[in-house]
Amino acid sequence: MTEPTLFSGFSLTCVRCDAGEDIDTEAQAVALGWINVMLDDTLGPDEWFWTHTGLCPDSQVEDPTSILR
Ligand SMILES: [Zn+2]
Repeated sequence: MTEPTLFSGFSLTCVRCDAGEDIDTEAQAVALGWINVMLDDTLGPDEWFWTHTGLCPDSQVEDPTSILR
């Protein structure tokens, strides 16, 4: 198993709500049912509180198509 040791500041937020603060790794997010988890390289970690964005299970239920790029 590969741990993201080089990237100690993993943090996640949902693109549709503010869920994700309890998630420590991308693998954990996927295990919990998140989708579209990706590195949010458009936002600097100095400016925002998260490094990754995704869609949490609750928000998928609402409208899973609305975040497609
Ligand atoms: Zn959400």
